[in-house]
Amino acid sequence: MRVLPTHIPLLAVLGNLPRARAADRLPAARVARIQSRLLSQLVRHAHARVPYYRDTWDPAVVAGVSSAADLTGLPVLDRATVNTLGTAGLLADGYTAATTRAARTSGSSGMPVTLHYSERELGYLRATYLSDLLACGLRPHDRIGYFRVTGFRRHRLERLGLARNVHVDTSRGLDEQVTMFLAGRPTFLRGFPNAIATLVAELKRRGITYRGVHSVVFGGESLADAARAEVLDYFGATGHEVYASVEAYTIARSCPRGSLHLRSTDVVVEVEHDDGTVSVADGAGEILVTRLRADAMPLVRYRLGDRVVIVPNDCPCGVRHTPVVREIQGRVEDQIRTRDGRLRSGDFFASLLRHVTGIRQFQFVQRSPGTVEVLLVPTAAEDGTGRGGLADRARAALGPSLGEFEVAVRVVDRIPPEANGKIRLVKNVRP
Ligand SMILES: [Zn+2]
Repeated sequence: MRVLPTHIPLLAVLGNLPRARAADRLPAARVARIQSRLLSQLVRHAHARVPYYRDTWDPAVVAGVSSAADLTGLPVLDRATVNTLGTAGLLADGYTAATTRAARTSGSSGMPVTLHYSERELGYLRATYLSDLLACGLRPHDRIGYFRVTGFRRHRLERLGLARNVHVDTSRGLDEQVTMFLAGRPTFLRGFPNAIATLVAELKRRGITYRGVHSVVFGGESLADAARAEVLDYFGATGHEVYASVEAYTIARSCPRGSLHLRSTDVVVEVEHDDGTVSVADGAGEILVTRLRADAMPLVRYRLGDRVVIVPNDCPCGVRHTPVVREIQGRVEDQIRTRDGRLRSGDFFASLLRHVTGIRQFQFVQRSPGTVEVLLVPTAAEDGTGRGGLADRARAALGPSLGEFEVAVRVVDRIPPEANGKIRLVKNVRP
């Protein structure tokens, strides 16, 4: 049996890097051809070698898959099914738990899953990850501060002082996070936006000036506009966005104009609309992802659990030619019940509040149908003015919701993150 390496094998990453980087600039027709070819290979591989797909997929449908639009003939895969099937149902022939690398999702959906990757596919996935960081301004001698719960495996370049890791564990208390941050002196940040914003607020509160960070890559949750500006302003840094997940790796990344372009040579993205119809990379609804270079545990039409809005490429950057993720509306589970019992997406509220000045963070707490308590954390600038009219401005912005909900606004010092380091948009509290 092959033994897994203890360090990240660098040659595989560096060997794949040019391909991962080149994909960013390909013309749309070329992207479509690559996507179709990889998808046909993936679907045939999954059908031939993965027990679950072999047993459930219709061979005639499999034979007819030649582009993303043909995927609608295959069933959607959800988290519960992945957990039920486990490695017995979803690992391809020839792979075992011992010969693959496992990763667990953060569980912000309420249902963590464990995925498996071969070292071969990781060689490419790590290259796409590095490619993202380089596109967001990473320089060889940067120290990369990761705001997340789990750390990163070491790699040999660190001994040469290249791309070193500084782990800021977002499951720890704020004081500890500040200590980790200052001891590690990162120059490039990637992680949960609310965790970064909270740390910056604490550094400011302590009167600490830190101008060593030149780029911040936000990902994993949405952030109020004012909080984003506060972070970038504090460091004097440039901001970038990456939409990624443990299951799919990078789904989209911001271009120089700030649009989140899909990585269509690495993933197929479908959108399932509320009426049950499905479009390829277009419209509003629930995202379904298929990561194209997967051999150990392919996930085909995987229900990631996010609501998104995707539009055809309308970006003037002229560099990237794939559709644009206009909004990531958060978890499907983040729903609030109206007075008359209907469910509204939590992002309905978030979209009303996101642009209000003076707000660093917010959360919607529901204790009974039709009532919502809105928790607001002010930015430092807002706090300095004695929290002036923040609650009033927020209440005014929430006007469109007042017919369906009784809304109470409360300004608080902090909103405690969940165990995975993220702040839940909607918190349902049983009385
Ligand atoms: Zn663009």
